[in-house]
Amino acid sequence: MSGAKDGSAFPWETALDRLATLYGTGDWRRPYLRDHAEDPFQVLIGTILSQRTRDEQTDVASARLFRRYPDARSLAAADPRVLERLIRPVGFYRTKSRAIRACARELLARFAGVVPRDLEELESLPSVGPKTANCVLVFGYGIPAIPVDTHVHRIANRLGLVRTRTPEETEARLRERVDPRFWIPLNPLLVQHGQNVCRPLRPDCPACPIRDLCATGRALRDGRAPPRREDRPGARARARRASRPRSPPPPPSRRGTTSRRRSPRTPGPPRRRPRAGRR
Ligand code: SF4
Repeated sequence: MSGAKDGSAFPWETALDRLATLYGTGDWRRPYLRDHAEDPFQVLIGTILSQRTRDEQTDVASARLFRRYPDARSLAAADPRVLERLIRPVGFYRTKSRAIRACARELLARFAGVVPRDLEELESLPSVGPKTANCVLVFGYGIPAIPVDTHVHRIANRLGLVRTRTPEETEARLRERVDPRFWIPLNPLLVQHGQNVCRPLRPDCPACPIRDLCATGRALRDGRAPPRREDRPGARARARRASRPRSPPPPPSRRGTTSRRRSPRTPGPPRRRPRAGRR
């Protein structure tokens, strides 16, 4: 694959400049995340709360939670009923209240309440997957990493930088192909773009400032089919079926010689037609 196709030669500077201008985030080269790094504990717990929840609800629940339990020690000792009440705005609040308390307890037991700065150690905590761990590195510590959520995964595929089925695969490919100096601004800018222009359904390609850099945008502009996405519904099952070896039909002489074959001279009861709706 050529550099342009595999993403290693994608003009990230140009793309990030244009996105930063569109969203008014200032110069992405400035280490603004290091100046304004958030509390790593609150990034960690807030990211767990944000799973399958809208940002506005996460913000409300996080503000209520951290006013009362600002650190691992207080959260580990929290009353479960109070906890549930505080984070009720987020989806699955009962499950998440157990998850964040377990996470705080483990932080206390294994790391003296200090959130680790290491990806593997972060991922060893309960309810912490690659995206959450990478968010802590980027937003809590200003350490270059690539948190890949559904927006980053979708846009990287639409741009033609990767052809992947899962966010984990996308993260692995992007880590190989993107210069680390672009890692920190990549997530915040692509997430904003995914929420506003490159939406999951009906992306607004004509209004997109990086359309000329995007394989999907160029294809649609030229009336060609966009590149095939690997994460379309059913793509995985279709790929599995296509790769399955086809067994040849049995030789004619052995056909139907199983022990359960009914003797032709003793016909069984007539077959019933299946009723509609029965399985
Ligand atoms: S051109 Fe379209 S598909 Fe490509 S990044 Fe922009 S909005 Fe998304």
